[in-house]
Amino acid sequence: MKTDVLIAGCGCAGLYCALQLPAEKQILLLAKEEASQSDSFLAQGGICMLKDESDYEAYFEDTMHAGHYENNPASVEVMIRSSQDTIGDLIRYGVRFHRETDGSLSFTREGAHSAKRILFHEDITGREITSRLLEQAKKRPNITILEYCAMIDIVCRDNTCYGAVVRGPDGGLSVIEAADTVFACGGIGGLYRHSTNYRQLTGDGVAIALSHGIAVEHVNYVQIHPTTLYTRQEGERSFLISESVRGEGAVLYNAGKERFVDELLPRDVLTQKIREQMEKDKKPYVWLSMEHIPREEIIWHFPNIVEHCRQKGYDVFSECIPVVPAQHYFMGGVKADLSGHTSMERLYAVGETACNGVHGRNRLASNSLLESLVFAKRAAKDIAAGKKPGRQAMPQPDLSIYPDPQALACDYKKRILDEIARLDKYE
Ligand SMILES: Cc1cc2nc3c(=O)[nH]c(=O)nc-3n(C[C@H](O)[C@H](O)[C@H](O)COP(=O)(O)OP(=O)(O)OC[C@H]3O[C@@H](n4cnc5c(N)ncnc54)[C@H](O)[C@@H]3O)c2cc1C
Repeated sequence: MKTDVLIAGCGCAGLYCALQLPAEKQILLLAKEEASQSDSFLAQGGICMLKDESDYEAYFEDTMHAGHYENNPASVEVMIRSSQDTIGDLIRYGVRFHRETDGSLSFTREGAHSAKRILFHEDITGREITSRLLEQAKKRPNITILEYCAMIDIVCRDNTCYGAVVRGPDGGLSVIEAADTVFACGGIGGLYRHSTNYRQLTGDGVAIALSHGIAVEHVNYVQIHPTTLYTRQEGERSFLISESVRGEGAVLYNAGKERFVDELLPRDVLTQKIREQMEKDKKPYVWLSMEHIPREEIIWHFPNIVEHCRQKGYDVFSECIPVVPAQHYFMGGVKADLSGHTSMERLYAVGETACNGVHGRNRLASNSLLESLVFAKRAAKDIAAGKKPGRQAMPQPDLSIYPDPQALACDYKKRILDEIARLDKYE
C-alpha cells in the first residue's frame, strides 16, 4: 500500500491532523482498536482557551508553575496563542461547549489554574470534540480509517522514514509506504496496572523511537491523577473523578472524615499528599465529598460521573466516594519541534505520544487536548508545505523478523519501562 500521509492513531491529534491536511493528499489513519476507543473520547474536564489578553500572563505562569518550570516556554506560548483559533475550528466542526444564558462561552476552573479558562461540554468534553472530528473525517473522501490495524514498526533508512509495518485485523503484516508518517498513538497507560487510559495505549510510538535511536524526551515524566474512583476489581480501567469536581468545590476527607489538604494543589503535589494520608490511615483510598456543590450543578455539570458512581453503588448526593491516585498522562515522549517534526526526516509526532515541552514535568489540567490539537495542526501545515529533501526508493523490510504480538508487546513494554527506570535513577 502507498499513501501520501500515514497517521498512526485516531484520537483527537490524529484526526485533527488529517482534517487540516490539504484535500488532495491521500491519508491513511490507523486505530489499534475501534476508532472511538481513544483517550480523547474519555476527556471529562474540558479544554483551555485564552479568554482574552488580560489572562495571558496568568495562563502562561500557571502552565509553567505546574510544569515546575521545566516546560519549553516557546511551546507554551504557541499553544496559548493558538487556542482561540483552535476552538474556532472546533466550533465550525460542530463542537458544542456550555454557554451562559446570553450565549457567551462558559468557563470553569480546575486544580492549579488561577482563573476560570476551561471550556466544557457537561463532563464529556472529549467525547463531544472527538466524535465531531471523527464524523468530519469519515465525510472526507481523501481520508481512510483502518480500524484494528496497529503500527508495529517504521520502515527507515539513513534517518529517513518511508512508512510503517502494520499488523492488520487478521494478524497479517503489511508495509504501508508514505511520503510522511505521523505518530499519534497516545499515551502509555496500558503499561500500568492502574491507569485511567485505554489498555491498548502502550506507547508504541515511543518504543519504536527508542529502538531506532529517534530522539525522545522526559520519558520518565508520568502524571498520576490524584482522584480516580477506588475499585477492588483488578485490571479494570480506573474511572476518573475530574479535577473540575474539585474546582467546583468538592473536598477530600481522611478516614476520620476530616479535611486534610488544599484540593486545588497541582496534581503531583496533591497525589503525594493523598498517598501520605492513605499511609497514615492505612487505607487504599481517601474520601471525596461533593456536599458543598449545589445539587443542580452536580446534575448538569457531572452527569457521567453521577451515573458511573451510581452503577458502582455510590450516591454522590448523599455520601462520600472513595478515591485513589492512578497513572493518567504521559508528559514525555518522542521529541518534537514546534511543527511536530521528530529527529527523523519525514516523521512527525503529535498528541500525547509527542514531547514538545509544553507540559514540563507536570501537565496543567485541560492543557492536553489543546496541546494535541494545536501541534497536530502545525504538523499538518508543515507536511503540506512539503519542503523535504528527496529520498531513495523504499528499502524492503524483512517481515519474518517480527515476533508474535504478545512477545513484541513485552519487548516494547520493557524498552519503555527500562528507560523510565534508567532516567529515574539519575534524578
Ligand atoms: C479519563 C481521562 C480524562 C481526561 N480528561 C482530560 C481533560 O479533561 N482535558 C484534557 O485536556 N485532557 C484530558 N485527558 C488527556 C487527553 O484526553 C489525552 O491526552 C488526549 O486525548 C490524547 O490524544 P491523542 O490523540 O494523543 O491520543 P488518544 O486519544 O489516546 O488516541 C490514540 C490513538 O492511537 C491509536 N494507537 C495506539 N497505538 C497504536 C499503534 N501502534 N498503531 C496504530 N494506532 C495506535 C489508538 O488506537 C488511538 O486511536 C484525559 C485523559 C483521560 C484518560
